Amino acid sequence: MRRERIKEGGDFIIIHLNLKMGAKEMNKVLYVNLTKKEIRVEERGDLFDEYLGGSGVAIKLLEEECPQGIDPLSASNPIIFAVGPLTALYPSASKTVAMFKSPLTGNLGESHTGGRSAMAIKLAGYGAMVIKGSSDLPLYLAIHGDEVKFRDASSIWGIEAVAVGRILREVEPGAGVRTIIRIGRAGEKMVRYACAVCETYRHFGRLGLGAVMGSKKLKAIVISADKSIEIPKGKRREYKLVYDEIQDVVVETDAMEKYHDLGTAGKIYDLNKIGGMAYKNLKSARALEEIARELSGENFAEKFLSRRVSCSHCPVGCIHLASLRELYEPGYYFKTSIIPYDNETIYALGFMLGMNRAEDCLRLIDVVDRIGMDAISTGVTLAWATEAYERGIITKEHTDGLELQWGDVQAYSEAIEKIVMMPNEFYQNLAKGSEYASSVYGGQEYALAFGGNEMPEYHTGIACYLNNLLGARHSHLDSAGYDLDQKLMGKEFTLEEVVRALLKEEEWRQILSSLVVCFFARKVFTAERVTKALDAIGIGNWTEGKLEDLGRVIHRAKMDFKFREGVDLAKLRIPKRIFEVPTPHGLLREEDIKKAIEMYGRLI
Ligand code: SF4
Repeated sequence: MRRERIKEGGDFIIIHLNLKMGAKEMNKVLYVNLTKKEIRVEERGDLFDEYLGGSGVAIKLLEEECPQGIDPLSASNPIIFAVGPLTALYPSASKTVAMFKSPLTGNLGESHTGGRSAMAIKLAGYGAMVIKGSSDLPLYLAIHGDEVKFRDASSIWGIEAVAVGRILREVEPGAGVRTIIRIGRAGEKMVRYACAVCETYRHFGRLGLGAVMGSKKLKAIVISADKSIEIPKGKRREYKLVYDEIQDVVVETDAMEKYHDLGTAGKIYDLNKIGGMAYKNLKSARALEEIARELSGENFAEKFLSRRVSCSHCPVGCIHLASLRELYEPGYYFKTSIIPYDNETIYALGFMLGMNRAEDCLRLIDVVDRIGMDAISTGVTLAWATEAYERGIITKEHTDGLELQWGDVQAYSEAIEKIVMMPNEFYQNLAKGSEYASSVYGGQEYALAFGGNEMPEYHTGIACYLNNLLGARHSHLDSAGYDLDQKLMGKEFTLEEVVRALLKEEEWRQILSSLVVCFFARKVFTAERVTKALDAIGIGNWTEGKLEDLGRVIHRAKMDFKFREGVDLAKLRIPKRIFEVPTPHGLLREEDIKKAIEMYGRLI
């Protein structure tokens, strides 16, 4: 791994920047009104002192700014971006939290990304940004430190997300610490699971941030930074020691090694081997051996890996880029596409859709990436549609002539285009996700959405499904139930132990996402190291106990937001399919899941 060291002695200089801020002084929130084309900046030390930053501050801003019961695609829905106290100061504290009301689930929308977004927001001088209102004409925001410009985006409306980045890089100043967050055509058309693309290979993937940006006619946000952070006098030696300790754990131990080597795709083969990988809409939890080998991280690395890249200020380099060389047309030249891949994209657009060839999986990832859709929701929604077509509840009339068949990359590419173009009612419904489409056409027993959000790859046991159902974002990253399932293999455990373990994990993750550190670095940022890291930048008075308490408070605030928006745990839909296919722990029982949900409701 690449190793970075801070300079010995003197000031720690991250990059050539103009203005210095204290580590404690980034409590500014930039409020942008797209309707009135107005901005204001407020000092919100009240929020940052109590909730650190990231998710903690974002949920409080969401409570303040999001009126109860609003349409998520209305001008009143705020988009909140927040970074944290460790951002730009420690390795792998490289993420930005986006929060909004989700147009996919109708409640809490939260998505995280890296790239250069966190560094750019923080070094532009902001701890958070709140974007409200909507524009009549397409626009993009250009935020260069204190200067905010509303720029006409008519000429880039309709252009794919990747190309928008290339264009704005040319016309906007501030190369260096600069981020470009933008949407593709799916966001413009408000596909409910459209994503926002950041720095080409990173995404605010889940829960429809792209659709919310599209509803505001906000094509892109460019943020460039020109400030630096000053460590308080008297703390510099301590800061350097803590920085070095964190850097050493990141690069010298095995804490994050797997993310660099094969990346998250490295777990695919073993997950399939234990029978924990959803395949063809979870008709099975294990693909054939040759397919698992073909779609494994090892095969992607051997045949296609061209390079690895990192988010800013992270030495890990977990972002794996494949190089796919294809003929344009017989007799013409070749084109080479650079395509990011990971476990989730390979699962959703490979395993779930019955792909037999890694190349086909990469082609679909490329289509989804260019069009700007969440890969997981797209793959799972198309998997539902394929099974529904197989069973005859939807026909060629619905699909506009397409034959949806497992492994047919051409048909799926065309279906994705149709989801965006919405030529008929069927595709309009498919653009609202599998929960909605199955409520219209039937087939809910095999529509694999939980709380309205499409499932990740894991069919590992009860913990992964409790995570999907009860997690505040209905994301596998809420409490990593898949991980708990695998740790519990071969062991005796009670339902209550599982529920308590998931809750504890989700509460601690509120702290990680408030700081905001990458979840891949969760073994690095232990409670003890977090308190040291905060103290070394002059943000003292945080004990491990106080952090744990805060995690609980933030988690409850998120759940309260969901309850406020109508979520009822007792009414969560549980797709029957998950009880029909054995997990590595055997068949799941509906009564156990219902009991666990009740237990969870009593604990929070
Ligand atoms: S581990 Fe990967 S995703 Fe996390 S901050 Fe580093 S490069 Fe980004």
